[in-house]
Amino acid sequence: MRLLVVEDDPDLNRQLVAALDDAGYAVDTALDGEEGHFLGDTEPYDAVILDLGLPKMDGISVLEAWRRDAHKMPVLILTARDRWNEKVAGMDAGADDYVAKPFHMEELLARIRALVRRAAGHASSELECGPLRLDTKMARVTVDGVPIKLTSHEFRLLAYMMHHQGRVVSRTELVEHLYDQDFDRDSNTIEVFIGRLRKKIPPELIETVRGLGYCLSQDGAEAASK
Ligand code: CA
Repeated sequence: MRLLVVEDDPDLNRQLVAALDDAGYAVDTALDGEEGHFLGDTEPYDAVILDLGLPKMDGISVLEAWRRDAHKMPVLILTARDRWNEKVAGMDAGADDYVAKPFHMEELLARIRALVRRAAGHASSELECGPLRLDTKMARVTVDGVPIKLTSHEFRLLAYMMHHQGRVVSRTELVEHLYDQDFDRDSNTIEVFIGRLRKKIPPELIETVRGLGYCLSQDGAEAASK
């Protein structure tokens, strides 16, 4: 899962990026509205955290421009505590949720988890695929109830595939959603990570669809057990 943080306060920006990185997300960041708008316009994010008071282009204008151009990613806005009208304007401009400053990082993380899973069509915070279970709150994966150890890249890959299970996901899509923009992206590394994942989970859960990509589903597991 790849997120964008648009926040001009350098300290808060840094704290947000650190917390989201710890939580297992790839994070891009912008310190003004223009750069934020450009990134959201050109890169595919799973969710965006958008401050409203920004230099160069204010948050409401950024959000309105994205929605006008049919960008549908979930957007959580950061508003001032006492300005109820900012929240209304933000939601009307196309925000999906808001957090008022100052906020507890745990609350922001919970709201982001909910936005990301709802955008992928999941209501529960625990995702299941056959024997595989992802607890999005604890960032923990189990197979038949037994926890498995994953590196941060393996976790990101599996979490993305579990959010989008039952659908073929291309390597390009994976690269775009697993790495931040500064990462040296090479779609061959995806193959390597898929290989490593298959050693840690029942391998038949991830099907290679030739020329298209990969599909995580329990159909493969059911076919293999017959
Ligand atoms: Ca600000």
